[in-house]
Amino acid sequence: MNIKQMLIAMGCVFLLSSCETISATSVRSLAMFSPENSQCYNRQRQSNYFAVDSHHHFQPFRGDAVPFNKLVNWAERAGVLFVNVYGIGQIYTRKSGCVGERGCYTHVIAPSIENDIKNANNYVKHGADKVHLTLSMTFADLHKPDTILANMALLEEEFGDLFRWMGEVNMVKAAHFDNGHQAVSMDTIAKWQPFMQVLQEKKTPLALHADLGDNEAPLRYLPLLEEVLTRYPDNDIIWMHMGISKELSRIDPSLHIRTMQKLFARYKNLKVDLSWRILYDYYFSFPTVNSQYVEFINAHAERFLPGSDFVASKNKRFADYKEEVDINSRVLASLDDNAFRRIALGQNYFDLLELPYRAPEICTTASP
Ligand SMILES: [Zn+2]
Repeated sequence: MNIKQMLIAMGCVFLLSSCETISATSVRSLAMFSPENSQCYNRQRQSNYFAVDSHHHFQPFRGDAVPFNKLVNWAERAGVLFVNVYGIGQIYTRKSGCVGERGCYTHVIAPSIENDIKNANNYVKHGADKVHLTLSMTFADLHKPDTILANMALLEEEFGDLFRWMGEVNMVKAAHFDNGHQAVSMDTIAKWQPFMQVLQEKKTPLALHADLGDNEAPLRYLPLLEEVLTRYPDNDIIWMHMGISKELSRIDPSLHIRTMQKLFARYKNLKVDLSWRILYDYYFSFPTVNSQYVEFINAHAERFLPGSDFVASKNKRFADYKEEVDINSRVLASLDDNAFRRIALGQNYFDLLELPYRAPEICTTASP
């Protein structure tokens, strides 16, 4: 008897829709990702959602966050069992009556260590049994590289080796140009050396928000990313959102794919993050465009990581998180079995962080 049949036998038949929700998500548990697990994953019957949310902001831009325990519970309910706990790369308050992103904030946007400390304190206090959490350092101001090592040391002194990721940190984010942010310069990138050295030694990936360009010049900022990749070839770099942003809603997919292909060929430690719903809205929701990307992702399956880019401001509900997981998982449903296992079921993530987990094999027609 499978779980659905069992629930129906227990009387859930009158509540079939809620029973379906329970059966779709409760089949995932950390045990499924143990190296000892020999049960295959049936893509026809089991969830197409990613099991790893490598891009989850537990702290919002302003105001209070959804409580930590709730966020962990929401992940579990959505079948997301591995989560990167991000703060946020910028905090600000909004000018009253101002609508939108540009020019609406009361001070120059800059990251702060406060959110990372809040996340770590919550983690120490509440823990998480059923979901594996990786804490991330979001404080790093890439314009001020000489402040980074001291803050890394501060977190280490307070929390030991809890922080195993750095990001999302902003190298170039056009959405904030009117709020005092500007692209990090080539000269400054050269000065990252001391902290990049430590990240490399500790095998801590760096998750970079680096816009590829804008609709007028789609590759405008590519030289900056290339500068980082050339200077720091032994650091694991995760490129957020494939370089797409609201300012780059119309790059020709062939040019975008060719650009990523060249980067992959040149830089072995580059990975790409597939989070943020605009990827779906601007690109993956169009079937022909989607198939171009699916073919590309299948061919480079070891290079991608999944995520929601959820921002946990206190007015959000479980349905909001689930919607982000759903939208950001849609492209994954069309991937071949190898890519689905590596990306959605987390093998790339486990390899990158050397976690003691293993993504289950995908059932074939011959599987029992
Ligand atoms: Zn983000």
